[in-house]
Parts: sequence; structure tokens; C-alpha cells
Amino acid sequence: MPILQDVLEEITDAMRRAEDRGRVADYIPQLAGVDPARFGIAVVTGDGAMHCAGDAEETFSIQSISKVFTLTMALGRIGDGLWRRVGREPSGNAFNSIVQLEREDGIPRNPFINAGAIVVTDVVLSGHEPREAIGAILHFLRFLAEDDSIIIDKAVARSETLTGYRNVALANYMKSFGNLNHEPERTLGVYFHQCAIAMSCRQLALAGRFLATGGRNPGTGFRVVSPERAKRINAVMLTCGHYDGSGDFAYHVGIPAKSGVGGGILGVVPGKASIAVWSPGLNAVGNSQLGALAMERLTRAMGWSVFGP
Ligand code: GLN
Repeated sequence: MPILQDVLEEITDAMRRAEDRGRVADYIPQLAGVDPARFGIAVVTGDGAMHCAGDAEETFSIQSISKVFTLTMALGRIGDGLWRRVGREPSGNAFNSIVQLEREDGIPRNPFINAGAIVVTDVVLSGHEPREAIGAILHFLRFLAEDDSIIIDKAVARSETLTGYRNVALANYMKSFGNLNHEPERTLGVYFHQCAIAMSCRQLALAGRFLATGGRNPGTGFRVVSPERAKRINAVMLTCGHYDGSGDFAYHVGIPAKSGVGGGILGVVPGKASIAVWSPGLNAVGNSQLGALAMERLTRAMGWSVFGP
């Protein structure tokens, strides 16, 4: 078995030299200025060992990776009743697509496309003020990563609030079908702030550990979710975590994972490891171009694809 730290250093060297780095997201103006040369990777293994390389300590906007954590919270609140309001099938459409919603009566295909994540956030908001729900999401991430320094990047939240017309449309459209319990701007206020949480690869890998260890946070020994729920969240990550690039990611990388337009990817190797990678340039479907390549090299070198060596 190769030495993990060596593998991470080799991948980081190769990614630093890569010329085609994809394109940094610019539809959220505040993200457009991020340096595309950045690259970081962090892996926590089942025994609790942390391995990092590159810019693994630098924070970036986690964006849609936050959807894994709000899904976990929403399932904790209402359990499987959530699946009456959101499906769990890959969409085969862009992350911010509206077309399927009309044909499918305002029920989003899965909790990781924007429409589905907005419904999930609507569940997390129930019984709270938006500010309290935002606090609860941030608190959950700090708890999972055992790190109280995690914060929300207010400039990113503001930038998205000012320009998130597409998400406003999705939320209003679902409201018209009765699939949003709060006023769209209240749910979206929470959604934009959860997306603007800033974390490093190290923090994100720690936050994702419970999904690799049957639902228990190995640091604290605290049970976050049941083994069964961890398994199911992983299943949705595998099938839907990369939008209309999910099949390709499963083919090349072969692990449950969730991407965000900030260029981060959180990956789970059940029973073995939690991985976070960050490279801001995106491919045509809005997933980190070099992040996926780095994960492919890592899972291949370590024999970590869930589909075989
Ligand atoms: N905040 C982003 C949006 O709603 C999240 C999208 C993403 O990371 N794919 O557009």
C-alpha cells in the first residue's frame, strides 16, 4: 500500500503544474476574484490521522457542500418524511435548472440540486428565525469539525443575495406548488448564508468524518446519525453529488462526494476516510476540474473506489 502522505504530495505537485484548471465561478461576483492557482487536499483516515498537502489550511467558500450538512439536519428533524418533499434521483440537469420542476409538480429531483437544497433549508428553518437557523447550521459544522473558528463569509453571502435571481425564481416556483413553508426570501436568506460558510480542506475533511465512520464522530465518540442514515446520505452523494456530472464522477472516482462552485469537493470512503479537496476552477457542469482529477488519482492509488481496485 503506498504511503498516503507521499500520494498527496505527488498529486499536489501534479495539480500545481496543470495548465487547464477550468474556470472560476463568476456568477457570484464575490467568487470571481479567487486565485485559480490554489490547490489543497486533506484526508482523515478511520484511525483519526490527518494528512494534508498544498493549501489545505486556507479557507474557501463551501457553497453546495453545505447541502450535505443541511440534509443531515433536515433528516434529523423530520426523518424520512423529507422524501415527500424532495426526491432522491439524479437529475441529469444543471444544478440550477428549473425545467424539471414544472413537470414534477414542484418536487425537486434530489436534495443537492439548488431547488432540492432550498426545500431542505426550508425544513431546517421550521420553528426558527432565519438568523437562528443560520446559527444552527454553523454550530453543527463547528461541532463536527471540532473547530469554533469556522465562520460565514458575509461578503459572499451579500454577493449571492444581490445576484441570486435564479434561486429566487426556483424558490418562488416551488412556493407556488406549496412546497415551501416559509416566505421565499426567508428560506433563501438561510440558504445563501449556508453556502457562504468558509472552511479549509482540513476543517471540511473533519466535518465529513461521521459519514465515513458509520455515523459516529470518532473524535468525540458522539453519534451524529445512525449507521443506516450515514449509508443513505452517502448513497445520495454518490448518485447526485455532482449534478449532471455525477455519473462521470462515479465512473472516474467511485466514491460518494459533494461538490460546490467554490471549487471544493468533500468525498467519503466508507469505513476508511474522509477527503476534502479544493481547486477553484470548474468544469463545464460546475464541478472542480482539478479537484475531481485529484480525487481520481487518490482513490486509484489507495484502492479506495467503492466499486473495486
Ligand atoms: N450558492 C450556489 C448557488 O446557489 C451554490 C451552487 C453550487 O455550489 N453548485 O448557486
